[in-house]
Amino acid sequence: MKKYGFGVDIGGTTIKMSLFEMTGHMVDKWEIPTNTQNNGSSILSDVAAVIEGRLVQDGISKEDVEGIGIGVPGPVVQDSVVTVCVNLGWGRVDVAKELAEKTGLKVRVGNDANVAALGEMWQGGGKGYKNVIMITLGTGVGGGIIINGHVINGSNGAGGEIGHVFVDETEEETCGCGKRGCLEQYASATGIVRMAKRALAADNRESTLRSVEDLSAKAVLDAAKAGDEMALEVVEQMGKRLGTVLAQAACIVDPEVFVIGGGVSKAGTIITEVIRKYYIERAFNSCRNADFALAELGNDAGVYGCVYLLLSSN
Ligand SMILES: [Zn+2]
Repeated sequence: MKKYGFGVDIGGTTIKMSLFEMTGHMVDKWEIPTNTQNNGSSILSDVAAVIEGRLVQDGISKEDVEGIGIGVPGPVVQDSVVTVCVNLGWGRVDVAKELAEKTGLKVRVGNDANVAALGEMWQGGGKGYKNVIMITLGTGVGGGIIINGHVINGSNGAGGEIGHVFVDETEEETCGCGKRGCLEQYASATGIVRMAKRALAADNRESTLRSVEDLSAKAVLDAAKAGDEMALEVVEQMGKRLGTVLAQAACIVDPEVFVIGGGVSKAGTIITEVIRKYYIERAFNSCRNADFALAELGNDAGVYGCVYLLLSSN
């Protein structure tokens, strides 16, 4: 194993870049803007140029670099090819091949939610485990499934898309994916706000949420922690939906730990406790003792996981 590696997490507006020692120590991190003009055609050249510059600046020889791990917001097949990436303007791009040609370094590519899961397994909330389901509760619900240290990408790169598990036949609003009744519509930050607004409209019960302008998931979670009955009911609904789906997922892949991350998880143990309560109630006996942990790496989980890709595939 060589000494250094780069982690590069490409998002729709910024590219998070980092230099690591392959032992797992982050030496430095920085960001550059994502240039999505001309269908994102300069993105890989920009990344290559910044890495070349960084190697010169730090006096690091390419012989001491294991490679570059890349995370992208879209489906990835064979640790290499992005099939489509709307946020970057990309169609099918062989990221590993193109960036390897530009830099002469080994390149491994993963979906952003999946690399975040790997990052948390390597150095975060899932450290010490090899069978991990990571759930990211943000604007949407992302997921990554790791079995024996390897991410399950699936045949279309859609492995771990837990947010789009179907949970409610009666739902009339449409999910971001175009279907109706997805988990994401109840368990994401957006979903929590949506359920709170429904509860407020359903009756005239007193609730501190009535006086909140621009209702956010954080406001609902704060109100729940302060004991507001309506907010607590919303949190219960969210925990019930998610705990049920995780119990189902456990029947399929039997993980050691569920790591919960994303903006919603900043509320802390109120989230893991309510999910776990329903999980234990509904899980198959053998899977009941799975651990629940909060994610620890925040927005850096992606770059950690990018570097881990270099360790896990040769
Ligand atoms: Zn959906």
